[in-house]
Amino acid sequence: MAMDLLMFPTWMKDCIETRFYDKRCEKRVGKYKTIYCGTCRGTLACEVCWKGSTEHHGHDYLQVYTSSWRTSISIGDISRFCDASNIQLYKINSKKVVNLNPNGKETSPSLS
Ligand SMILES: [Zn+2]
Ligand SMILES: [Zn+2]
Repeated sequence: MAMDLLMFPTWMKDCIETRFYDKRCEKRVGKYKTIYCGTCRGTLACEVCWKGSTEHHGHDYLQVYTSSWRTSISIGDISRFCDASNIQLYKINSKKVVNLNPNGKETSPSLS
């Protein structure tokens, strides 16, 4: 079931549509970028670089969890920025998460 993307702030939609599994960190071998900075409108960083950075202090961001070609976002993170009560939830490692559609197949807009 596709999420209703209309309820998200624009930068969150961009984050959701980002193909994180393509994004390897240039600095840390084997690390994928899993953090999307909304304040910087799309700057991506891996966890290590993000924690070591000072430039994103106090910025709005989302961290994604990737597993077997799926991207998920913790519902707690989403709730910080919008009303997440209508979103279908899954549990991964006891975290409540939202599964995203990395290939975009199920997100065809119903607006047209
Ligand atoms: Zn990095
Ligand atoms: Zn930032």
